[in-house]
Amino acid sequence: MLRSTFSRTFPQVLRFSACHFASIPAPNVQPDVHYNKIFINNEWHDAVSKKTFPTINPATEEIICHVAEGEQADVEKAVKAARDAFALGSPWRRMDASQRGHLLNKLADCIERDTAYLAELETLDNGKPYAISYCVDVPMVVKCLRYYAGWADKWEGKTIPVDGDYFSYTRHEPIGVCGQIIPWNFPLIMQAWKLGPALATGNTVVMKVAEQTPLTALYVASLIKEVGFPAGVVNIIPGMGPTAGAAIASHMDVNKIAFTGSTEVGHLIQRASSTSNLKKVTLELGGKSPNIILADANMEVAVEQAHMGLFFNQGQCCCAGSRTFVQEGIYDEFVERSAERAKRRTVGDPFDLSTEQGPQVDEEQFKKILGFIGSGKREGAKLLCGGSPAADRGFFIQPTVFGDVQDEMTIAREEIFGPVMQILKFRSLEEVIERANSSKYGLAAAVFTQNIDKANYIAHGLRAGTVWINCYNVFAVQSPFGGYKTSGIGRECGEYALENYTEVKSVILKVPQKNS
Ligand code: NAP
Ligand code: MG
Repeated sequence: MLRSTFSRTFPQVLRFSACHFASIPAPNVQPDVHYNKIFINNEWHDAVSKKTFPTINPATEEIICHVAEGEQADVEKAVKAARDAFALGSPWRRMDASQRGHLLNKLADCIERDTAYLAELETLDNGKPYAISYCVDVPMVVKCLRYYAGWADKWEGKTIPVDGDYFSYTRHEPIGVCGQIIPWNFPLIMQAWKLGPALATGNTVVMKVAEQTPLTALYVASLIKEVGFPAGVVNIIPGMGPTAGAAIASHMDVNKIAFTGSTEVGHLIQRASSTSNLKKVTLELGGKSPNIILADANMEVAVEQAHMGLFFNQGQCCCAGSRTFVQEGIYDEFVERSAERAKRRTVGDPFDLSTEQGPQVDEEQFKKILGFIGSGKREGAKLLCGGSPAADRGFFIQPTVFGDVQDEMTIAREEIFGPVMQILKFRSLEEVIERANSSKYGLAAAVFTQNIDKANYIAHGLRAGTVWINCYNVFAVQSPFGGYKTSGIGRECGEYALENYTEVKSVILKVPQKNS
């Protein structure tokens, strides 16, 4: 069933991937999806320049297909479509908030229906293990869209007791056309985190997807049309950052931009806003998150959670626990057990259900990570395992653990974004809080201890947007996520995300006190 769907709509996928999933049911409807085109106004368009670029399967280094390369001219078309869809009196602006929620729920239903297809496509394009795409990524997308569907008619303003014979109330209004630029590490989840709050609050969207992983976003575009979002409400452009991305960031008719990616590009986005129309900016950027293991922690739990906190998603997580601080006393045992665990990590074919770690997303990331490993060795950290490519073909890297890492080493300061763990030793709580905070980043952190007072003392002292206690990488769409310092501006998820997609309007009216 799945094979026939692939062969009708996307024959290249079949060649590289379908073998494991012959028994998985295909989507019930024939999707109207064109992976070599741009989605504008609920239609599929060639790039104005007619340019295309290849998207690669990182497990085999083979080209999956060629995708349209959107540039400034395509961004112009998309922004116009989004602006028209946002016009006063348009179907989208006249739509009941509850109906917006209904459409988001229908989109979630379709994504859930097509879980197997989407999970396979995500794994093919990104390299993450299929079991993770299927059991984690797609279900998180469905939950996210349902959560924001629920908010659509519940995002209420206030009535305010102003002085005098006046009555004041606030309206939460959509900002307008929202530019959204997403990365490649969680393509589907990043798309949902951006679409959910933007659409629940009534905005329109021009989204640029990452050049490494454009495919699932285009499939979701076909579902957006299928469930009945009005034309122009969502527009999806594959393309390059410096062209398509920059055109969105500096566009005079884009009212807000939401970006997830590197801190370096975050600076460019902020600058583009300030030199164009001061569009509102939210940024979710990099991290170098401290994971603090106290001497009284449950050793088994701490070792496993620290392992997952770093190695999950091939280490390609903005919140990866990439500075593991371990208290003296348990340091040697923790280091030994962490290296053993990393050696047992199964690396290989992401479509094999027993695989824990697939390839890195592309050659650029692969080389960058190997470069960081080289710097760790040169600067004197102790390589405990891994450190090399893990296969002759594909962008696989051995799970790597460094011990005796010092704060000033490059691998303790820079975001590696790969399967490379740094373990550092500390003595006191005050010392570790200071060292943990001594970073330009402040995205996430964790503490492992059986003492609740110590846990809260550390959690309150850390300058990070999320602090996990005795767990790691626990994401709930209901709970906000975002960074202190150069890790970002604003929050995604939860009620807080709605604020970033809303203008607050005060309406003040005269209320005569006497019947005149
Ligand atoms: P990136 O360049 O920041 O890419 C993120 C998104 O921004 C992509 O869609 C990218 O387009 C786009 N972009 C790039 N330059 C732009 C510009 N001048 N104007 C507007 N948009 C632009 O990240 P990357 O190069 O993929 O990865 C580099 C490093 O960033 C990683 O090693 C990692 O440290 C970090 N990173 C962080 C996250 C996160 O979740 N916070 C995610 C991914 C990467 P293209 O598709 O053309 O690149
Ligand atoms: Mg790819």
